[in-house]
Amino acid sequence: MPRLAQVLLPLPLPEAFDYAVPDEMGALAPGDHVAAPLGPRVVRGVVLSVRDAQGVNRPLKPLIEKLDDPALPPATLAFAQWAARYAAQPPGEALAMTLRGLRHPRPKPERRVTATGAPPARMTPARRRVLDLFAAPDAAPLSPTRAAERAGVSPGVVKALVEDGALVMVESPAAAPFGQPDPDFEASALNPSQAAAAQALIEMQARGVFAAALLDGVTGSGKTEVYLEAVACALRRDPEAQVLILLPEIALTQAVLARVERRFGAAPAQWHSGEPGPRRRQVWEAVATGECRIVVGARSALFLPYRKLSLIIVDEEHDGSYKQEEGFIYHARDMAVARAKLEGAAIVLASATPSLETLWNAETGRYQWLRLADRHGVAQLPDITLIDLRAHPPQTGRWLSAPLVQAMAETYARGEQSLLFLNRRGYAPLVLCRACGEKLTSPDTDSWLVEHRYSGRLVCHLTGFSMPRPERCPHCGAKDSLVSIGPGVERLEEEARALFPDARIAVFSSDTAPDPQSARALVASMAAGEIDILVATQAAAKGHNFPRLTLVGVVDADLGLRGGDLRAAERTFQLLAQATGRAGRAERPGRAFIQTYAPEHAVMQALRDSDRDGFLAAESDARRLSGLPPFGRLAALILSSHDPAILESFARDLAAAAPNGDGVEVYGPADAPLALVRGRRRKRFLVRSARNIDLQAYIGAWRARVKTPNAVRLTIDIDPYSFL
Ligand code: ADP
Repeated sequence: MPRLAQVLLPLPLPEAFDYAVPDEMGALAPGDHVAAPLGPRVVRGVVLSVRDAQGVNRPLKPLIEKLDDPALPPATLAFAQWAARYAAQPPGEALAMTLRGLRHPRPKPERRVTATGAPPARMTPARRRVLDLFAAPDAAPLSPTRAAERAGVSPGVVKALVEDGALVMVESPAAAPFGQPDPDFEASALNPSQAAAAQALIEMQARGVFAAALLDGVTGSGKTEVYLEAVACALRRDPEAQVLILLPEIALTQAVLARVERRFGAAPAQWHSGEPGPRRRQVWEAVATGECRIVVGARSALFLPYRKLSLIIVDEEHDGSYKQEEGFIYHARDMAVARAKLEGAAIVLASATPSLETLWNAETGRYQWLRLADRHGVAQLPDITLIDLRAHPPQTGRWLSAPLVQAMAETYARGEQSLLFLNRRGYAPLVLCRACGEKLTSPDTDSWLVEHRYSGRLVCHLTGFSMPRPERCPHCGAKDSLVSIGPGVERLEEEARALFPDARIAVFSSDTAPDPQSARALVASMAAGEIDILVATQAAAKGHNFPRLTLVGVVDADLGLRGGDLRAAERTFQLLAQATGRAGRAERPGRAFIQTYAPEHAVMQALRDSDRDGFLAAESDARRLSGLPPFGRLAALILSSHDPAILESFARDLAAAAPNGDGVEVYGPADAPLALVRGRRRKRFLVRSARNIDLQAYIGAWRARVKTPNAVRLTIDIDPYSFL
């Protein structure tokens, strides 16, 4: 019987294609990988369905072959399609995310040595020790280095034994980059509040259907301990169950990986862009076959092909880094909830400062709301003092006020640690010419160049463009006229060194800790008390426990409030609560000082009074009144082009074509705040609707009315977090 397969290709095409299945191909099922012709090319695709082709008269191209990669489980395939529809993107784009792990080669087999049984020509005590490693009948082969280490001999001895024929090189598959977890390896004794939350999560999983919970507790209350119990429960309940722990940033993975390993006696798999390709390939396959049980990863780990995903943890669920802003635009927290629903899995969202969206779901009972009472043990939340910079201005060219400097001196004298928090990389956020007044920007982008002194370069943080700091102003040619305006972490370090010349000072930002290894080294050094003053961006403000850190100084609390987007106040509160929450995580009480020009601002008042709930209730009321998320729906259309005239006319056509929809409002087109990026002009529309409206369908209908010119890129951002 002739068969026809509907195949989704991982490409930006509007729909899946039908192909004829050659008779000799044998069994073919949804989720199978195939090679399919596409014009002159051969591309990978995934089978969505197979059906009888009797009566189909269209000429169909035949599939080329079936590939032997592990099939995509049905829920993974369903999720990719759902995600694409939600994000208003072609389905193939979501499939491409799912298949990403297959782009990497498998790791090369590892070369190991084992004994042949033949005696060496000459025996020495060193050679004897090596051969003894393999004396048992079931001795495992070892890498030559490991064998030499274990026997306490030089690598030359092992090599000589191979040449002698007493050892032989064998190739064995690369070891898995994860182990098999034991749910009962090393459980913590939970305090009563933690135990109650853990019990609730266990009962939630026992229902065996989709369920969500918000795990809400201040930093240090033991949320991680509690969710690890939920993970243990998932592993125990079902020997095939898989668990995903999502983290907003790679920098945080190291600490969580270590804790998972301690708790379950085996390293979990990690999934993020910092991992080498062959290892990602191994993890992808092991997730698809079910061999890998715990994945700790960044947002894209959500698109892995889980065989039996039973539990998802979204740690720091409020974190804006969960929003992917480029390529396939999506919010990993929201998508995680959708995936849990499709899998019939449980999901736990953990945070000390939950997002308004999640709190609202908790308030309305969609999510179970589990609150942890206090910090674990004797640790207390820090005392928070607002420093009014109008009353305590720092000296010219300095950024630390007298009260903060005094607190730093006291802390240093006691042998304790301080953290200066400033969410700005580099030395100065702006370079200005004193002669002509020009601010230095990227050549093709509307954003200021940030001065980096360590590297001696001016860098555009948006596009990555950089150039050496020039001697003359590029505009007027004046020599030595450039001045650095404002502080970044590098400049604060300079100030701290001038104030405390003997202190050990380090900077923690994505420049000084660009990869997990260097982040881990900095964190370890801080935890070991080798640093007195840490100057840090948000890279260090999240997640870490530093027992000797007793003072946090927020250098510019108003920074995030200036941009003025819908979540500016909420985000500032979350970030500063996290940053100040680093102080006093153990026996010693902590203090936090917040420098601000607006101490009367609701965010500052709430931080000082630890009144999270009051602040969020007020924010929530304001959003409800204006119909903004989570009480209404929002989407952005971003148009960009190298050709301003085409862009202008397309924006006008699009505006004229907006369908009339009850409960939908279209704002724009307006020049984007970042009106020029990489030489492309940008315009934006914002669409707002009531919650019960299918905004994706509305936008789909709208787009279909006007053909997008080739010279214009149209990006759709459902529930935008960036308004630039
Ligand atoms: P959170 O995730 O809420 O910030 P953590 O789980 O990281 O809190 O806990 C904060 C610190 O307290 C960690 O060092 C953790 O090991 C410790 N801790 C929390 N609960 C317990 C417990 N029940 N037993 C032992 N240590 C605990």
